[in-house]
Amino acid sequence: MEHPSSIVEELRQFVLTDAPPTVYYIPDFISEEEEAYLLQQVYKSPKIKWTQLSGRRLQNWGGLPHPRGMVGERLPDWLLKHCEKISSLGAFCGKTANHVLVNEYKPGEGIMPHEDGPLYHPTVTTISLGSHTLLDFYTPVSGTEGDAPQTEENRYQFSLLDTMEPQMKRWKGSACHAHSWVAYPVLSDEQSQDVELVEAFAVPIVDKKVTSRLVRELNSLYPLDGLQHIKRVRARKDRDSPHPLEVLVCLASEAPEVKEVTINSLLPPEAVGREGLGEPFTVKVPARPPLTRPQFELASRHWPTSFHEDKQVTVALRGELFSPLQKAAMHTYMMSAVTAARAGRESGMEAVGAVMVDPVTDRIVAVGHDCRGDHPLHHAVMVCIDLVARSQGGGCYSFDGYTACRFTSPEWNTADSEESSQPYICTGYDLYVTREPCVMCAMALVHSRIGRVFYGTASADGALGTRLKIHTQRDLNHRFEVYRGVSRTECEELYSSDTEKDHF
Ligand SMILES: [Zn+2]
Repeated sequence: MEHPSSIVEELRQFVLTDAPPTVYYIPDFISEEEEAYLLQQVYKSPKIKWTQLSGRRLQNWGGLPHPRGMVGERLPDWLLKHCEKISSLGAFCGKTANHVLVNEYKPGEGIMPHEDGPLYHPTVTTISLGSHTLLDFYTPVSGTEGDAPQTEENRYQFSLLDTMEPQMKRWKGSACHAHSWVAYPVLSDEQSQDVELVEAFAVPIVDKKVTSRLVRELNSLYPLDGLQHIKRVRARKDRDSPHPLEVLVCLASEAPEVKEVTINSLLPPEAVGREGLGEPFTVKVPARPPLTRPQFELASRHWPTSFHEDKQVTVALRGELFSPLQKAAMHTYMMSAVTAARAGRESGMEAVGAVMVDPVTDRIVAVGHDCRGDHPLHHAVMVCIDLVARSQGGGCYSFDGYTACRFTSPEWNTADSEESSQPYICTGYDLYVTREPCVMCAMALVHSRIGRVFYGTASADGALGTRLKIHTQRDLNHRFEVYRGVSRTECEELYSSDTEKDHF
């Protein structure tokens, strides 16, 4: 095992330390989107391209190899790009690879130890997609018989396990460039509406010394039920004011009905001592406790208000809840949904894609796209939830005809976790979907106990923010967080090109 003489110098930094010195590890050599795209192209190829062999299927690109040589054919662009990328590393002694075999192995399948024929001398390279790969290396069978029998066991040298890159590593590559989009929370109506104001009467406190007695007497005469968020007394901010404080007496609706409101009509002398007070005036006070910082700031302009801040909501409303690293990961997930949406569109479906992610392991659990051409209820989110159910041994439908619709195999799941610890369908999972879900899909997300939903672009009949906010309904038994605007441009492009297609 020698370094190919022409290997580019920059590659040396990627040599693995605990493997033979010709093993390199180049992070992010193929992105998840490129992987999905290549798989899509492989499976889009006409059936006739496949040759069935024992333990694998094969596609042949670049011409038919023949012992006397090969009549070359131009490689399709989707393969050429990667041939050029690998060749640029110097793997083919300065030449560019001209031939590609695509092998498909089902779980458990593989190819026996072998040497490639002379046409493949001196170099072949392999790209593995869709799974990890185990490569076993053996010394060749020699022409002369040595002492030991030349069994497979005796010739075995070492194995390389090419695992799927952990998502964390994938993020690092892209975390450095800032994403221009911002994920904003879709809050309930109560949290996002304007501050409702009610009219009330207040009086100036000319003599500060009466304040505590006055507040005590007012609290028993006008307890301000349901307005616990209102502070009873406010300080005048302007120094020139003839009085330093003002006190809220009662809501206008609670005041005795008189032609002209005076201090006498508001405050019966037997209940409240009126010395040290000025004449009443009207103010507007917030009718409900503020739920967000913007509401609090608006409310406080009218009258001092107390506020129990939910710091996460405040940070989320500023668009700062997710770190650049988290955004890079979110973008990767959403781009997988965009890729699925495109695959769906190419099958004649609406361009909607959805990806279910387990945020604990940062693993994609299922990917689905719209299939409503086959069944009116098979919206992308419904497909994705059914695929999650299938990964857990349930599910109602089969989307095997659509290669972009996939789920993490149950074997993989059970290897990692006890079956009993499997969540109830989508408990704790994050859904990334290119377009805001409809009512049916939103209700399915409620029933499947989704953790959080991230969508790219709003939809006119959307049920997670536009037409309804199903995720905030108090009378439903499950609520969840929703964020909009993730990878917005790429998601919007799906629909703008959709419209163009409709027009032409
Ligand atoms: Zn739907």
